[in-house]
Amino acid sequence: MSNSTSLNRIKISIINLPKASSLLVQRNIITVEVKSSNPGPVVWLIAGSHGDEIGSVVVVQEIVKKLRKNPLIKGAVFAIPVVNPSGFESGKREFDLTGEDINRSYPGNVNGSLAERLAFKVFNAILQSNPAVVLDLHNDWRKSIPYTLIDTPLIEDDSFKMKLVEYARQLGFVIVEEKYEPSLLKTLTGNLILKNIPALSVELGESYVVNEVNVEYGVKSIWNILAYLGMVNTTGEFFKYPLPNRFENKILYYEDEPASQTLGIIRFNVKPGDCISKDQVIARIYDVLGNLKETVKSPKNGILLGYSDSSAVYPGSKNFAFAFIKE
Ligand SMILES: [Zn+2]
Repeated sequence: MSNSTSLNRIKISIINLPKASSLLVQRNIITVEVKSSNPGPVVWLIAGSHGDEIGSVVVVQEIVKKLRKNPLIKGAVFAIPVVNPSGFESGKREFDLTGEDINRSYPGNVNGSLAERLAFKVFNAILQSNPAVVLDLHNDWRKSIPYTLIDTPLIEDDSFKMKLVEYARQLGFVIVEEKYEPSLLKTLTGNLILKNIPALSVELGESYVVNEVNVEYGVKSIWNILAYLGMVNTTGEFFKYPLPNRFENKILYYEDEPASQTLGIIRFNVKPGDCISKDQVIARIYDVLGNLKETVKSPKNGILLGYSDSSAVYPGSKNFAFAFIKE
């Protein structure tokens, strides 16, 4: 890190992009460090890894603003509001120059591709700070509710899992266990977990646009964590995302099946946040003349987290994100 300037208790630093990059215009990765003079836990907030996920960037801004008014009692909050500036400028998920997804590039490599080099710097900056918890903030489909993801398939130790679940509970959103995919081993949270550092991905509603309600939820959920760690005073009531009672304190599991079998236009019968039952009709797919081609039923009981941005579907397209109850 270099080019540090001090603003009251808040320090703005820059992680320079790797020198070997072919960027004509240097883009800097800004880190914000809010530090109390009393030692205590370190919490990291990472946002903007996907350039089109703007809502979570605003959540980080709002947390820093709130910390200016309500200083930390102890410890430090480190934040990177935009990890992927070139994607951010062009409104794309990936790195604009290389098409890479930084959240599939961890733990990074100092001599690797552009995203791997940056991932290496971000990952090591986090490791050096010995954090209590790392929250990787994301945004999802345009129609989606906030939820917290736990990389359960990578956790071997039960007490570590309990610690993670406790942090997830403090966030107040529906808690969803990730499905195993090899790409989990290349994510930021996955790699932190492999190093026994508590890390959660938090999906804060839709990409592209700032939804003020979801920003408020995001700020409140992070404040819950800071209060839980004794770093700030609580603002009164514990924030909890409004969920149907049957999902309170339950850990659900993530599923994106069933995929479409047909090419056509999908029309949804349910909306994100709705409870869904096994065999309930959740969508119908029609051909171009409006003939019904496929009826989509929920395979399990659970909640609909979100559905796809496009209603044009094709065989194999994944159109839903579900959180199902383990039964
Ligand atoms: Zn994302």
